Amino acid sequence: MDLLSSDRVNRSKPSFDQLNSISEEMESKSAKEVIRWALESYAPNVALASSFGAEDAVLIDLICEIDGAHARIFTLDTGRLNQETYDVMEEVRKRYGVTIEVFFPDSPQVEEMVTQKGINLMYGSIENRKLCCKIRKVDPLKRALTGLECWITGLRREQTITRNEIKKIEIDSAHGNIVKLNPLADWTSDQIWKYIKDNEIPYNKLHDLGYPSIGCAPCTRAVKPGEDSRAGRWWWENSSHKECGLHWDPVKNKSDRSS
Ligand code: SF4
Repeated sequence: MDLLSSDRVNRSKPSFDQLNSISEEMESKSAKEVIRWALESYAPNVALASSFGAEDAVLIDLICEIDGAHARIFTLDTGRLNQETYDVMEEVRKRYGVTIEVFFPDSPQVEEMVTQKGINLMYGSIENRKLCCKIRKVDPLKRALTGLECWITGLRREQTITRNEIKKIEIDSAHGNIVKLNPLADWTSDQIWKYIKDNEIPYNKLHDLGYPSIGCAPCTRAVKPGEDSRAGRWWWENSSHKECGLHWDPVKNKSDRSS
């Protein structure tokens, strides 16, 4: 184990101005070094946002190696997840002894949406799909990030065109200018799977069924060999910029309103 020392709380929190140079410096650092920097700088106000996909499996293992049961992990339970996702969530709790903070959507909003538009509204129009993502994901994320100074994601540059310029350390202008950490930004899919296999860590069994990306059951499917890794998300929509809005940044995406 490689735990943080007992004086772990906000020991060397950088100023807003220092973050630019730190961000440049961290581009050449390993995922573990980037995570360690974030934990040393922001704990306990730093947490991993996990959807329990392959990238999150790696991040959970790295964070728990550094921070043990102190590690903060949250997830958004949209109410439409696959059983396999709940299964790996339980496996993670048992293996690492961590608490997983679960955020649900606002019940009255879900009730009104489903009553008015039906349970499968997302297939009706992009507008409907975005409404569902807003109520079930985007709004709960805002609650989850309340009080945090840094959140950690499993975004990788090779995943999709909307992510190919992400940095390992960014300022998240969509969420009050807190720090957004993407420690696996430069990892390939092969590196992710090598880490999972080498370390025999819990992973979502949907991946064994051909799902490269994990999301809600009605909006995620397996992909065919050679298809893009995001092809299984909202596959009925014809856009290369498909996102649910969790990673929408109004500053970086000024000229693109499609994600
Ligand atoms: S991914 Fe699908 S089910 Fe999940 S919140 Fe978005 S539209 Fe709704």
